[in-house]
Amino acid sequence: MKAIAATQALQLLRTVFGHPVFRGAQEEIVGHVAGGGDALVLMPTGGGKSLCYQLPALLRNGTALVVSPLIALMQDQVAALKQLGVRAAFLNSTLDGRAVNACEQALRAGDLDLLYVAPERLVMPRMLECLAASELALFAIDEAHCVSQWGHDFRPEYLQLSLLHERFPAVPRIALTATADPQTRAEIIRRLALDEARVFISSFDRPNIRYTIVDKQDPRTQLLRFIRDEHDGDAGIVYCLSRRKVDETAAWLVSHGVRALPYHAGMDAASRAEHQSRFQREEGIVVVATIAFGMGIDKPDVRFVAHLDLPKSIEGYYQETGRAGRDGAPADAWMAYGLGDVVQQRRMIEQSDGSEDYRRVSMAKLESLLGLCETAGCRRVRLLDYFGEISAPCGNCDTCLEPPQTWDATEAARKALSCVYRTGQRFGAVHLIDVLRGHATDRVIQREHDKLNVFGAGADLDDQAWRNVFRQLAALGFIRPDHDAFGALCLTETSRPVLKGEQRVSMRSVLPRKARAGRSRRAATALPAADAGLLEKLKAWRMEQARVQSVPAFVIFHDKTLTEIAAARPADMDALGEISGIGAKKLERYGAALLAVVSA
Ligand code: ADP
Ligand code: ZN
Repeated sequence: MKAIAATQALQLLRTVFGHPVFRGAQEEIVGHVAGGGDALVLMPTGGGKSLCYQLPALLRNGTALVVSPLIALMQDQVAALKQLGVRAAFLNSTLDGRAVNACEQALRAGDLDLLYVAPERLVMPRMLECLAASELALFAIDEAHCVSQWGHDFRPEYLQLSLLHERFPAVPRIALTATADPQTRAEIIRRLALDEARVFISSFDRPNIRYTIVDKQDPRTQLLRFIRDEHDGDAGIVYCLSRRKVDETAAWLVSHGVRALPYHAGMDAASRAEHQSRFQREEGIVVVATIAFGMGIDKPDVRFVAHLDLPKSIEGYYQETGRAGRDGAPADAWMAYGLGDVVQQRRMIEQSDGSEDYRRVSMAKLESLLGLCETAGCRRVRLLDYFGEISAPCGNCDTCLEPPQTWDATEAARKALSCVYRTGQRFGAVHLIDVLRGHATDRVIQREHDKLNVFGAGADLDDQAWRNVFRQLAALGFIRPDHDAFGALCLTETSRPVLKGEQRVSMRSVLPRKARAGRSRRAATALPAADAGLLEKLKAWRMEQARVQSVPAFVIFHDKTLTEIAAARPADMDALGEISGIGAKKLERYGAALLAVVSA
């Protein structure tokens, strides 16, 4: 970028958006696109993709066309830009004829900096005609992975977007996505004819997300404790596998004072839309959902994502947990994981109707995820490694903060496997543990399992320790669910050397719960008591503004900005303007009111 343009870009970043510096590759991307180049930007959620086209839109003459697949998201983006004093509008099916005309007129007259358009509308003849008669700054294609037929977000309309290049070859294009894998990247380049585009790949690390995977014991209670201890009053998402579990968990959380709402594909469209919109617009709502809830969530201040069931793959885990902490403030990815999850996922794959290939790939993906769950090393290192990134232990995941001990579980593994074998490979973990621990239950007596030599052979370990052993045996592939007998575990080929004592097995041990490491972070970022009160007042003020203008609260100010204000207690407009997230327009509009709240 030429020196003048670079200075100008930084100035706009500061005055319009209120950010003091660029993040990562933003500056380079902005320079490249503002200079007329095409770009493909791969950046994780929350990485700051929007600025990569919003700034060039302001730097270049004419209007930037932004293709976005999600109507609700469009509206919020436009509302947020208007707050910054940027001339933005959107064109989609929610508008009536008059509004569409007005919008097209504004476009032709050059009165817009950015226009957000749904993909199907952009390629309509009338729209193309209108574009031909207007000055265009650039095309931004957001969520560009929607062009991939193999991804789950495929949108056929996206395929037609290659037309833009043919019709308007001189207008630079920037495609953006948070999808990391190389196949999708290649497909975007091919389908959108972006061969000449410069590719910008950022690290996919989300440093503000803390990964924690706990041993599942009493998951609902564990979840409630997690929410109460770490995220009281915060917005979050809880993922469950089944619709029924979604409903039950949501109801249970509500009965324990959490503002939870269910969301799944079995609900009628109206309630689904209402719950999603309340989550987006109100503060502190916890949505309990199946993975049907995801696409279209663009809430920056989701403070936690919890999994009560195992996702299907690391991609799934990364995408779902990635919905936390888009604003860059600390957030948690928390999962409860146990033997039942391993068994359930394996069985689902084995019983699926998919081809042999499909099952093989699914199983391999599950194995990778189980590796992440069972690792005694850094979760983030493992996660990034899966996406081909090498990294060092992060210091912000459970295993970094409380390194788990490993123990030589060879003997325990032998006993457990032997117990599976001796009881005929027809029982689940509960019964197997009863036998190992020497509990003469009715079923044990009835089956005469008290006569086996494994009966009572494992009295040295408690129930929880044994559950752990079975879970890790399943995760390591030494035992698997039986295809035919529901709930039964059986041995695999690979268990033989362990059973015979020829192979040693090392396992992660369950540590007694220490004081939660989460505290240290809270302590580090916590505000003094008086300021916490101020933060509450600022939030109340924001809520009222949001209500009056009927926009989501985060469109007025992000949590991060309010938190900074509460900590810095700025005394005048100058000091207030220093805070990240307060540009010239917002300072002018809200400065006095904010200072009044601070000094009150
Ligand atoms: P993405 O679209 O990549 O998920 P966004 O564009 O929504 O991410 O940006 C995520 C968050 O980061 C937003 O809250 C945005 O205000 C903030 N942000 C982006 N760029 C910067 C920057 N240079 N400095 C500070 N905050 C930034
Ligand atoms: Zn780590």
